[in-house]
Formats: sequence, structure tokens, C-alpha cells
Amino acid sequence: MHDYEMIVIGSGPSGRRAAVQAAKLGKSVLVVEKGRRVGGVSVHTGTIPSKTLRETVLNLSGWRERGFYGRSYRVKQDIGASDLLARLHKTLDHEVDVLEHQFSRNGVKTARGAARFVSPYDIEITSETGEHTTVSGGNFLIAVGTRPFRPDYVPFDGLNVFDSDEIVELPRLPRSLAVIGAGVIGVEYATIFSALDVQVTLIEPRSSFLDFIDKELIEEFTHELRDRNVALRLGSKVAAIEFGNDGRPICRLGDGRTVITEMLLFAAGRVGATDTLNLGAAGLDVDHRGRLQVDPKTLQTSVSHIYAAGDVIGFPSLASTSMEQGRVAACHAFGLEPPPPPEFFPYGIYSVPEMSTVGMSEEEVRKRAIPYECGIARFRETSRGHIMGLNTGMMKMIFSVKTRRLLGVHIVGEGATELIHIGQAVLNLKGTIDYFIENTFNYPTLAEAYKIAGLDAWNRMSRA
Ligand SMILES: Cc1cc2nc3c(=O)[nH]c(=O)nc-3n(C[C@H](O)[C@H](O)[C@H](O)COP(=O)(O)OP(=O)(O)OC[C@H]3O[C@@H](n4cnc5c(N)ncnc54)[C@H](O)[C@@H]3O)c2cc1C
Repeated sequence: MHDYEMIVIGSGPSGRRAAVQAAKLGKSVLVVEKGRRVGGVSVHTGTIPSKTLRETVLNLSGWRERGFYGRSYRVKQDIGASDLLARLHKTLDHEVDVLEHQFSRNGVKTARGAARFVSPYDIEITSETGEHTTVSGGNFLIAVGTRPFRPDYVPFDGLNVFDSDEIVELPRLPRSLAVIGAGVIGVEYATIFSALDVQVTLIEPRSSFLDFIDKELIEEFTHELRDRNVALRLGSKVAAIEFGNDGRPICRLGDGRTVITEMLLFAAGRVGATDTLNLGAAGLDVDHRGRLQVDPKTLQTSVSHIYAAGDVIGFPSLASTSMEQGRVAACHAFGLEPPPPPEFFPYGIYSVPEMSTVGMSEEEVRKRAIPYECGIARFRETSRGHIMGLNTGMMKMIFSVKTRRLLGVHIVGEGATELIHIGQAVLNLKGTIDYFIENTFNYPTLAEAYKIAGLDAWNRMSRA
């Protein structure tokens, strides 16, 4: 007999979903969370804060209206850090409330403290005041997520040099910002700050960025960033970071160039938060980035009653996919077969402009030697785009010439992360180009772009 049938370590998206699923199956569940409040990286430093910040910036800056009123248009002059934080705290409080209510409604118990294994079936929970409690579980889910990678050569000081968790509680708005790392997080923050007219320099050691996204989309995106004066330093390794006499971070690049800005955000990678879990006592081991390996179908680690889900198991490291992983783990632990995961899931990048993608990129289709054709629509071709004053935004769809099936959808521009779900549905239901040709879409909408891109591809395919 164990104290709980399922113990979940971490209350982020995967832990939360697993806990509720197990409780709904009538199991006794304990969630252990070392943070002050439940919600994980997703609620407190990652997804929700960055998206709230983005929304606040777009609203206060009048970004969405600038197509009509010009680049100097502002809803609020002199936007400060306090303007950004006010909305953030309200949103986070609401998220935590909803989550706490969900746990109590489903009878999920929570314990505040840091968990570490003392045996494969027991963990010790250490509270903030140093008290220890030991509890045993029949099953475990390790859902501890990640924390920012903080290499020694970066002089983090919480004043001018931040990691991607700290930037959320920015003390003031800088005039200039260097962002190191052009991954999803770096690109999101770089473009959000640029929308506030902060002079941003984005530094990336590789010569390209966001390589998992269709190249044509990235070209479009890059063009827009350059047009907005975002300085891109691609192919530039950081040799050293030091402070000038005025306290400004000076970033010396391997190619001899120097970037001096008021603030610096280091957003080059995250590592699994597993170092304090004493995984050896449970018979588990991690890779060089602190991540656990699992069976992708069941989410079991090499110790069969211990599951792992969310960012701690690596790719794709999204809140959306983490939730599904948590549910799958809980179902498997209690003998319930979850439905097979869909073949394709969407990827949303909440940069300004936002991007979203589902299915294969043109590069992938080519690599697989599938005969294909593309259809392109520009948002400015849609009546909705005219009404909204959109000068930019593009949708690209890729179809198989042989089977007419949709292979991929790639969108950059307003509403991309919502619009993508039409493409996702058609893709996972194995739909063809005919869906877009034959069906009527609401008018005027941005979704009409699907029709335009579909017809564009259809014309090319007919000609071929
Ligand atoms: C800036 C940023 C923006 C993002 N934007 C998006 C987005 O737009 N869309 C999207 O889908 N995803 C986004 N993500 C990714 C998303 O936040 C993660 O995929 C998701 O949070 C992972 O969930 P998780 O279940 O692994 O747990 P996490 O959210 O990582 O939470 C883990 C929890 O475990 C706790 N914990 C750790 N160790 C212990 C311990 N020993 N004992 C007890 N508790 C412990 C931590 O305190 C934490 O609360 C973003 C991430 C970041 C950093």
C-alpha cells in the first residue's frame, strides 16, 4: 500500500493534466510543487507571461492599427514597465485561481516543497522552511520541466543582463536590447520589444534561425524584421560579455563586431530541472542536458512505474504537447488506452508578426522526393486584410500532386496561430485540395486566405 496511487512532481501543463486525468479515473493523486504557486514555467515565467506581455504591447503600442495610421501611431505614449506588469499579474492570478479550483474540484492534493527520490517508490518533500516529509507512490510522473541555461561567461545580474525567466519581471523598459539566441523564445522577445520601438539586436551563432520552419516563411519574416530595424547578427558567436563603465553590457562577437545595449537577454537554451531529484535513488539517469528518456508511446522511463512528460523529455517542449503527454502517461499508468496521437500537431511562434506551421515544410517535401505544388495567399489580398489595414501576412499551402492531399500549411501574420487549426484539421483528416476549392468560407475573414492559396495551387496543378 502506498500513500498515493499517483505522485506528480511539478504542476506545469503535463503535471496538471496527468493529475486531473488520474483523479478523474478515481485515483488518489498528490502534486508536489516547489514554486510558490501552482502552474509551472508555463504560468509563471514562460507561455502565459510572454503571451500576456505580447498582447499588452500590441494593445498599448497600437501596433495592429499602424497599417492605417502610420508607424508613429500609439495608443499610449511613454509605455513603462509598470504598464506591462499590471496586466501580467492580473492574468497570472486568474490562471492560478482556475488551476487551484480544478485541483480542488477533482480532489487532487497538493504539497508545497521540493521533491527528491529516496527510493523508486518514495520521495522526500522539503518545504521552504526546511521541514522534510516522506511519501510513497504507486506511480510517479516527473514533470519538473526546465530552467534557463546560464553559462558562466554570461554575467547575469538581474539589472541589465537577464535570462528568459527573469525578463518577465522587467524593472524598466530599455531603449536598446541585445538578445542572444534566435530560438523560439529569443525571437519572440526580440520582436515583442521591437514592437515597443526598443532598438533590438538579435545574435545567433548559426547562419540561419528557426530551421524547422519553412524557409520561405522565414524569408518573409526576416524581411519584415529588417524593415523594422531589428539588427540581425547571424553566424556570430559571442566571444565575451562584459560591462562598460556606465554599466551597459558589451557583447563582443567572434567576428570582431561589438554590440553595446542598455540590456541583454540571454535566451540560448534550457536544461532539464532534474539535478536535485536524486534520480539515482530511483534507478534513473539523464542526458547531458538533464533530460529523461521515455518510451514515446507510453511516456514510461526505464523504471516502468515512473513516467516523465513535458519539457523534461525534450522535443517539442510546448505547453500544448506537454498537456497531452501528461494525459497519456496517466491513462497508461491506470490501464486506460488513450487514443493514438494525431500525426501532425501545430507549432505556434508568438513573435510579432506571429507564425504558425503544421505538417511538412517545402524542404521536407523535397527531401522525401514527393511531387508537390504550393499555393500562396497574401493577407492584403483578402477583404478582411483591407479592413484591418494589413500590409503583410502570408499563407503557404503545400499539396501532393499525385494524391492532391494537403501536406503542410505555413502562416506568418496576424492570427496565424488561430488560423492554422483549419489546416491542421484538414491535414489530420487526410483532406485534399478539393476541401479548399469546394467549400465556402465566411466573408470577410482572414481564413479566406485558405481559399485563395488553395486556388493558387489548383491553378498551378491544372497547368502542370
Ligand atoms: C518564454 C517561454 C515562452 C513559451 N511560450 C510557449 C507558447 O507560446 N506555447 C507553448 O505551447 N509553449 C510555450 N513555452 C513552453 C512551455 O512553457 C513548456 O512547454 C511547458 O511549460 C512545459 O510544461 P511542463 O509540464 O514540462 O512543466 P513546467 O511548466 O516546466 O513546470 C515544471 C514545474 O515543476 C516544478 N519543479 C521542478 N523541480 C521540482 C522539484 N524537485 N520538486 C517539486 N517541483 C519541482 C517547477 O517549480 C515548475 O513549477 C514557452 C516557454 C518559455 C520559457
